[in-house]
Amino acid sequence: MSAYHPLTEQEAIDIARSLSDFFPQDAQLESREIGDGNLNLVFHISDPASGKSLIMKQALPYAKVVGESWPLTLDRARIESEALITEAKLAPGLVPQVYHYDAGLALTIMEDLSDHVIMRRGLMENGRYPKFASDISDFMAATLFYTSDLGLNQQEKKRKVGQFINPELCKITEDLIFDDPYADSPNNNFEAAIADEARALQTDAQLHLEVALLRQKFLTEAQALLHGDLHTGSIFITPESTKVIDPEFAFFGPIGFDVGAVIANFLLNYAGQEHWSEADAREDYREYLLGSIVDIWEQFEQKFRKHWNDYGVDRLANSTPGYQDIYMKRLLQDTIGFAGCKMVRRIVGLSHVADIDKIPDDAKREKAQRLALGIGKSLIKLNRHAESIQELVNVVRKGH
Ligand code: ADP
Ligand code: MG
Ligand code: MG
Ligand code: MG
Repeated sequence: MSAYHPLTEQEAIDIARSLSDFFPQDAQLESREIGDGNLNLVFHISDPASGKSLIMKQALPYAKVVGESWPLTLDRARIESEALITEAKLAPGLVPQVYHYDAGLALTIMEDLSDHVIMRRGLMENGRYPKFASDISDFMAATLFYTSDLGLNQQEKKRKVGQFINPELCKITEDLIFDDPYADSPNNNFEAAIADEARALQTDAQLHLEVALLRQKFLTEAQALLHGDLHTGSIFITPESTKVIDPEFAFFGPIGFDVGAVIANFLLNYAGQEHWSEADAREDYREYLLGSIVDIWEQFEQKFRKHWNDYGVDRLANSTPGYQDIYMKRLLQDTIGFAGCKMVRRIVGLSHVADIDKIPDDAKREKAQRLALGIGKSLIKLNRHAESIQELVNVVRKGH
């Protein structure tokens, strides 16, 4: 185990070479740092002669966002590698394979997925991914069910909760998603054109109550091992394959937070279609996105229930009539509420999404921001009353 320091490209090559027989002995390795450098370094190491390659992701001891820098635990590299290993067991083929983890360097060496594209980019280019709803629902149903008290022995589950204590990354979520957007916080970041809507968030008492209740769930409900940051920038995709990356925010939290993250990011892209599709194709692509959301929820629900019916370990949960239906309805409601929170924060909070921010035309960008904010607020207000995923679809259709 080496002492921690941020690696240079040459050091990354030396470490890759020391991995027994991954690359040929005499390989001329090339190294490129491809991360965005805010929290982590990501090195792409390749041998052009053999065509072999791998990825090395190293946590930095600080987070850097809009010029500011604050310390951030390196333990998140351990959490990320251990979450990837857990997910690979429960959802085979849907995460990159971990080759090696070095605790001293906070370094994970993993499978290179460069033949995939980041899904956020894919949706901005109006890509269609026929396997996605099936793959992501497989991923979520398996990883969430088998780490919950429904699918995992309760003593074992409590030990696993201890393995994924992640207070610093949880605090980022608690502040940036559940607090700042609803207060006059210096962390907020919104355009002058929508200042009226952003300010209105600060005085909306009905919204504040719902967000406080969702925040309470995030703080207290150790329901299952979450990915914790399951947006479309954490998904690598092709029409044939889906791979979930970047689980450094993993911890035991409410299941709807992961499902809601996927849906929120589809809806942010839906709003961004103001720019990303031609007027005559917009409606069709938006229907594709909405249809995908319904498929994701319905397949997730069906698969989660099937795991439960076939492999549930909790005698009372398995045998109490009505329990499963109430449990699933609450998951739907949480999903809708968390999806709303995740949309709002991407418009007025610190960290935004390219689907909206990269719209060059000011008027279209403003329209997309208002649409996303409107949908987000409505979903938050809907959450505890929702009975079906169709109600989310109705909210979206009414939004414009
Ligand atoms: P961060 O936590 O800093 O967001 P990510 O794990 O999301 O880091 O990786 C950042 C970028 O590095 C990704 O968007 C992708 O371009 C690249 N990357 C990360 N993991 C892989 C991988 N396994 N294969 C190929 N590229 C990767
Ligand atoms: Mg990043
Ligand atoms: Mg990332
Ligand atoms: Mg990350």
